[in-house]
Amino acid sequence: MTMSMPEITRCDATECSYNRDRQCHTMAITIGDASCPMCDTFVQTDASGGDPSVIGRVGACKTSNCRYNEALECTAESINVGMHSRHADCMTFSSR
Ligand code: SF4
Ligand code: SF4
Repeated sequence: MTMSMPEITRCDATECSYNRDRQCHTMAITIGDASCPMCDTFVQTDASGGDPSVIGRVGACKTSNCRYNEALECTAESINVGMHSRHADCMTFSSR
């Protein structure tokens, strides 16, 4: 199984320190627990995080009931992240 890390096309969690202009700028995020596809890497600090020249990707995903999840990795071509119930969720999540 050959895998590549899906790009985060857009993130609407503008409160996150890794977010600039609705793009994620950390190297890789971790998504989810078993029941919710939340962005586990979300952080709010005074510091600006990440590298502006980097577009973030999905490093790992623990939401195994998503149809794009194989072996706790994401096989989608890309994902979007947005706010849901006051936390950041993977909006590309699709239930099996
Ligand atoms: S994808 Fe996650 S880490 Fe990246 S900017 Fe959005 S909430 Fe922050
Ligand atoms: S699309 Fe599915 S497998 Fe990929 S990060 Fe989102 S919840 Fe995880």
